[in-house]
Amino acid sequence: MTRRRHRLRVDGVVQGVGFRPFVFNLAESLGLAGHVANDSEGVILEIEGDPAGLATFRRRLEAEAPPLARIESVVAEPLPAVGAEGFAILPSLDSPGTSTCVPADSALCADCRREILDPGDRRHRYAFTNCTNCGPRWTIIGRIPYDRPFTSMAPFAMCPDCEREYHDPRDRRFHAQPNACPACGPRLSLEGEGVDPAADPLREAARLLAAGRILAVKGLGGFHLAARADDQAAVLRLRARKGREAKPLALMVADLDAARALAAVGDDEATLLSSPQAPIVLLERRPGAALAPAVAPGHRRLGVMLATTPLHLLLLAEVQALGAGALVMTSGNAGDEPICLGDDEARARLGEIADAWLLHDRAILRRADDSVAEVVGRRTLLHRRSRGYAPLPVLLDGGGAPVLAVGPELKNTVCLLKENRAFLSPHVGDLQNLAAYGFFQESIRTLQELLECGPETIAHDLHPGYLSTRWAREQARDAGKRLVPVQHHHAHLAAVLAEHGHREPALGLILDGTGYGTDGTIWGGEILAGNAAACTRVGHLSCVPLPGGDAAIRHPRRLALSHLRAAFGDELPDLPFLADQETAIVLRMVDGGVHSPLTSSCGRLFDAVAALTGGWREVRYEAQAAIELTALTTCAAVEAARPFAWEIDEAGDGLLLPCGPIIRGVVAAVRAGADAAEVSTRFHRTLLDLLVEASRRASRLTGLRTVALGGGSFQNGILAALLPPRLEAAGLRPLLPRELPPNDGAVSFGQAAVARAGLA
Ligand code: ZN
Ligand code: ZN
Ligand code: FE
Repeated sequence: MTRRRHRLRVDGVVQGVGFRPFVFNLAESLGLAGHVANDSEGVILEIEGDPAGLATFRRRLEAEAPPLARIESVVAEPLPAVGAEGFAILPSLDSPGTSTCVPADSALCADCRREILDPGDRRHRYAFTNCTNCGPRWTIIGRIPYDRPFTSMAPFAMCPDCEREYHDPRDRRFHAQPNACPACGPRLSLEGEGVDPAADPLREAARLLAAGRILAVKGLGGFHLAARADDQAAVLRLRARKGREAKPLALMVADLDAARALAAVGDDEATLLSSPQAPIVLLERRPGAALAPAVAPGHRRLGVMLATTPLHLLLLAEVQALGAGALVMTSGNAGDEPICLGDDEARARLGEIADAWLLHDRAILRRADDSVAEVVGRRTLLHRRSRGYAPLPVLLDGGGAPVLAVGPELKNTVCLLKENRAFLSPHVGDLQNLAAYGFFQESIRTLQELLECGPETIAHDLHPGYLSTRWAREQARDAGKRLVPVQHHHAHLAAVLAEHGHREPALGLILDGTGYGTDGTIWGGEILAGNAAACTRVGHLSCVPLPGGDAAIRHPRRLALSHLRAAFGDELPDLPFLADQETAIVLRMVDGGVHSPLTSSCGRLFDAVAALTGGWREVRYEAQAAIELTALTTCAAVEAARPFAWEIDEAGDGLLLPCGPIIRGVVAAVRAGADAAEVSTRFHRTLLDLLVEASRRASRLTGLRTVALGGGSFQNGILAALLPPRLEAAGLRPLLPRELPPNDGAVSFGQAAVARAGLA
């Protein structure tokens, strides 16, 4: 039989994920010879044997790759057969200029789960169990290559049993860098008032939780604050101490059955919940679920995640044994600050919030907040891309000079574009917050250090006042960096197109909160045409004054007044809330144009409509009114609804989508007794009809048929579900974000794509 030999180069996330042992075992099982090694690019291997065996090897190499591997490409090259025998794993081939991907953290795998729950296993109840298929990565990596001495596992010397596993290519823990066991690995401790120091930390922590106490839990990418989810007093206490009045709190449960007890879990949702990324998934609440009302007041949906680490699973098991079920598991911080990282930081920053601290002696080196997602149709819609996803790169279809993009002000992430890979930081948060600004700088430093790349080009938002913009300008002044200012909604458009590898010009339907426009007004309800290289504004929602500028974000009624003035002029309709004291002041601002920049924001139109129903006098976070208004309706109701009247003006140079007719329709409905749910349903229907027709006309004007959908309003599950099929029915080709959220979390990526296009 003729023997053949091939050299294969495998690129992607293939290091630190058990790829070499997988190759070893596959080759041995097929009786093939050769060797495999890591190098600075990925994995390189040589394989020799009969042609049928080699063909099977090639097929199974990609089809059966380990769960955490992500193969980007396999390039094969024939070599002369040398009559090799046996298969070997060779030491890493070190070469300078590393471009290897940094792996992301991964939730507990089924095998490790079985072990920690098995009283006969040596890792029974061990909170730091992991293997090549699961466990911490990004959050423990000090620098690359990803080897134990450069992680926060460095201080722990492996015991003989762990050593044996680590060096045995047939073992699931072969080269599992964080490998540990109760004899040699990190340990838990519990501190706080009334804590029994002799007690088992997990049992004692569970006892405190069951009794309604608030615990700071040192997890994977930072601290969580935990409390019993069925204890109203505990949840209220947590809200009061954390300064979080309204936003729903995330829940953690032990398994899918526990999730199903709280909420409806479809097949795709079950898959997402139990994926290695294990995000918080938004689920429809089950009536009568055993939950404190304060967990998610005013929300039909719950944010639920499964226990993502052995520590969390063991804690939930202990809590369940004491008769409690789900735990509130919210970011360990006060207000909107970044999640806490170190023990001392947590003791200081969470001192007024937590009653006790469940700690361990393994350092967290990188912050990673929980990711948030939902299933829309059969797609995953990300709301926040963080733990489990970051820093896995988004691939672009081409290389070029590196770019650092510093993102917008809210929901900030930063992005380092190196060759064809865009590395986005985990969710940084809202930069108005000083601590978040520190995390922003830390995120830039981290990406630049880990990827050994300090780009000369920095892309930033057009808004002169954003802290991210100011930071970029300092770099230009102090370090001679070259700046590329990028309009916010152009970045949204470019982000969606770049994810799809779409280089040709396309339409962009960008429905958003706010972003600084090229004409100095505040944009946010835009129809754009272009690509990363250039874009023009083809149409937009009509503009109204934004009374008080950004401050109006917290006062939906100000937007209602502004829209009422635009729709009705001096003859305002008789609505109960107009009796409000603030009305006259706000109207004076609107009429006089005092601190009232014009805005075409779609998010603020939602605010106005919500406020016109009489509710949402004041909100605690951006888009709260819009989110809660949307929660009052369903896709089925919207499809069956009667729209309000709407129109489109074809102005000389584009399309104007006037809000006036819609506002007048809302007011008429409210005065006829419609409740917020009915208004919400009909408003969504109106927007859909309006946007489909506007897209059709924009397509006719420009000759473009592809429509990129982006902006924070596409976190609205109803728009995200109903708009794409309707656009398709109109003969257009909608593109939705896939790996990134539609909201401002993707803006840094779009900025990088725009800057890259300008460098080409
Ligand atoms: Zn595992
Ligand atoms: Zn050990
Ligand atoms: Fe935006």
